[in-house]
Amino acid sequence: MSGAAAMSGELDPGLAAFRDEVRDFLDTALTPEIRAWTARQAGVFSEGELCRLWHRVLYEKGWVAPSWPVEHGGPGWSPMQKFIFADECAKAGAPKLPAMALQMCGPVLMRYGTPEQKAFFLPRMLSGEHYWCQGYSEPQSGSDLASLQMRAVRDGDDYVVTGSKIWTTHAQYANWMFLLVRTATDGKPQAGITFLLTPMDVKGLSVRPIISISGEHEVNQVFFDDVRIPVTNRVGEEHQGWTVAKALLEFERGGGASASDLKAQLATARSIARAEGWWDEDMAFRRRWSELEIELEALDVAERQTAAALMAGQRVGDAVASQLKMTVSTLLQRITELTMGALGGYGAADQRDALGMGANVPPVGPAYALTPTAKFLNSRAATIYGGSNEVQHNILARILLGA
Ligand SMILES: Cc1cc2nc3c(=O)[nH]c(=O)nc-3n(C[C@H](O)[C@H](O)[C@H](O)COP(=O)(O)OP(=O)(O)OC[C@H]3O[C@@H](n4cnc5c(N)ncnc54)[C@H](O)[C@@H]3O)c2cc1C
Repeated sequence: MSGAAAMSGELDPGLAAFRDEVRDFLDTALTPEIRAWTARQAGVFSEGELCRLWHRVLYEKGWVAPSWPVEHGGPGWSPMQKFIFADECAKAGAPKLPAMALQMCGPVLMRYGTPEQKAFFLPRMLSGEHYWCQGYSEPQSGSDLASLQMRAVRDGDDYVVTGSKIWTTHAQYANWMFLLVRTATDGKPQAGITFLLTPMDVKGLSVRPIISISGEHEVNQVFFDDVRIPVTNRVGEEHQGWTVAKALLEFERGGGASASDLKAQLATARSIARAEGWWDEDMAFRRRWSELEIELEALDVAERQTAAALMAGQRVGDAVASQLKMTVSTLLQRITELTMGALGGYGAADQRDALGMGANVPPVGPAYALTPTAKFLNSRAATIYGGSNEVQHNILARILLGA
């Protein structure tokens, strides 16, 4: 795909046929039941049970791990096919699967794991038997991750681990965690970190829910009280975990297709404004809507260009990754704000009991009033997780200004 084609979104016949195949699959795989459950989701990722179900559907089709190489069970797609697949899933409103296993821990194991670790973990990750969470952040270590304090002391064939991790997304569903621990305190902070894997059902490990302002349970604090983790569950060398952790962040880059998801959310803002009677009379609202539409077109082109660059064997640089992260997160916040404006008084209704797969009460007001408030509240975190916007600005300043 050429740069010009990336701009227009035009696909060559082979890719157009692939897009149609994906559309046909999604048309039937997204059953009315799955669509109904997904419509009740407002979190970053769908709820665990829905994720397990959708993971299974994609696994059986052979499409659950678009980025994995064929030898480990991936479909062998080009970067543009991966982009098209992500784009069509967003357009169709498919459940949002967490990134922790397939996009984070899996590629790390492929690069740094022992043959035994690869043989044990990768097939179970692919099938969904293992559900993973990420134990990086701690109460005093987020942006400055290298300051993490969780202690791991070697005792025979085990590490004995004490401390706590926080903001651990989906720890309540996970049966495995990958985590960073401190194995040395002398020298540079980055030099004494080790990357470990632990099952969640071990003695001394406990999960405390953190309920977000939207009323949902996505994140947790996880406590380790003398938890024993076998040395065989270490990835890479002792004290070399920082190198492994940095590689993991690199795997997250590129191939994103956020524009379609955001466009669908913007379209929802318009249909709510129409239903509530604002659309025709509120010119200020329509101007804000149109500005967002233009910015989303620009994001769409940028994401397609990134996919085309990957297709041509180029890497996604730190500057592009930072810019995309900031653009996507701030657009999400502005769109959810606009949607709240469209909702008017319903935006203040308490919908917490009607959210989620297990809810059996109807929303307050029309069906479209169910998720916007929770999405608005949840989107506040988008400029914090995955590297806050301030941290992204620092990265850009370092790269572009040499600051
Ligand atoms: C919804 C959600 C899900 C998450 N899921 C996970 C997960 O699954 N696993 C996990 O390990 N972590 C997770 N996190 C944690 C996330 O990675 C951290 O919140 C993030 O790294 C910021 O760290 P912090 O919260 O400690 O804030 P801090 O680092 O204390 O930052 C506080 C404020 O100071 C600013 N700041 C910090 N340093 C600088 C600087 N050098 N220059 C300028 N400004 C600065 C920040 O931008 C921010 O505004 C999640 C967070 C959220 C909100």
